[in-house]
Amino acid sequence: MKPIEEIKPLLESPKKVVITMHQKPDADAMGSSLAMYHYLLQKGHQVTVISPTNFPDFLKWMPGAETVIDYESSMDRAIQALEGIDLLFCLDFNALYRTKNLAPHLEKLNCIKILVDHHLEPQPSFDYGVSDTKASSTAQLVYETIYKLGDEQYINLEIAQCIYAGTVTDTGSFRFASTSAAVHRMVADLMDRGLKHEVIHQAIYDNFLENRLRFLGHSLLNRMEVFYEYNTAMLAIPYSDLKRFDLQTGDTEGLVNFLLSIQGIKMAALIIDRNSEVKLSFRSKGDFDVNTFARRYFDGGGHFNASGGRSIDPLEKTVDRFIKAVEENEDLLQ
Ligand code: 5GP
Ligand code: MN
Repeated sequence: MKPIEEIKPLLESPKKVVITMHQKPDADAMGSSLAMYHYLLQKGHQVTVISPTNFPDFLKWMPGAETVIDYESSMDRAIQALEGIDLLFCLDFNALYRTKNLAPHLEKLNCIKILVDHHLEPQPSFDYGVSDTKASSTAQLVYETIYKLGDEQYINLEIAQCIYAGTVTDTGSFRFASTSAAVHRMVADLMDRGLKHEVIHQAIYDNFLENRLRFLGHSLLNRMEVFYEYNTAMLAIPYSDLKRFDLQTGDTEGLVNFLLSIQGIKMAALIIDRNSEVKLSFRSKGDFDVNTFARRYFDGGGHFNASGGRSIDPLEKTVDRFIKAVEENEDLLQ
């Protein structure tokens, strides 16, 4: 993979571009993609953003979100947008399977593929890109890419808002170790460009329906188990809970983090029966590597302290497998 700054000559004449991200995109996937979208539009390219699936309502305020094609609900439009493209940008994921049913269409493409991502162990199928696992967020990498290309004058308020949204969420509001001095300097720069951070926090964090909070209370009271001998806490959510509380895409985001606030807990797991599959989210504090854990036991991956995976077993069996995996890692969890 050649360094991202080498795409500069490619951007000098108008190109047909698609930007895509991982399924069920979070604020970093959507924010980095839309920041790139606004940048490339200003550079005179024809740009379409495709999400493999729908995305949470709390991201719909993002400038340009209304133009994003949801592959699952608009397949024909998405496939048409991919026809004859020159450049494909892959943001906030590094393995094609993370684009779910869009993946076969991406595999078929004959265009130049560009990666901007911060997850561990990228697939070797990209022509240009940046894969920086130390970066706080893909949004930060988009910001740095625009600078590397000598185009910082294009960072307008829309781009600043998208980049800030991706960074604030992926850093747990600037608390995780990945929040470097460079992140704070970037935010200062974005504020100099007109960013009002308070509005964005409200749009992302103070924009839920009552049922989500009721679900949170119910889950913490009735669905949480703590295994003190392994410094691990777990939430296992049956599909019936998702229906009972009428949960929407994005409503379970952040839930797993509550478990890490228990004194002494080093690993937290959220295990949700999504009916078609069981989805797992892992978080850790300190030196327990949940990327390796997710890869080894649950066909997943991610970062050292935040990862995810999936299982085709029913919820109960998945929970049993999780507990067994935790037991196997007893020494590392002390
Ligand atoms: P979350 O638990 O918030 O869904 O994901 C945590 C982190 O792990 C994110 O960076 C996400 O992109 C990554 N991740 C989640 N699920 C998977 C998965 O199934 N495979 C891989 N490789 N990464 C995942
Ligand atoms: Mn990210």
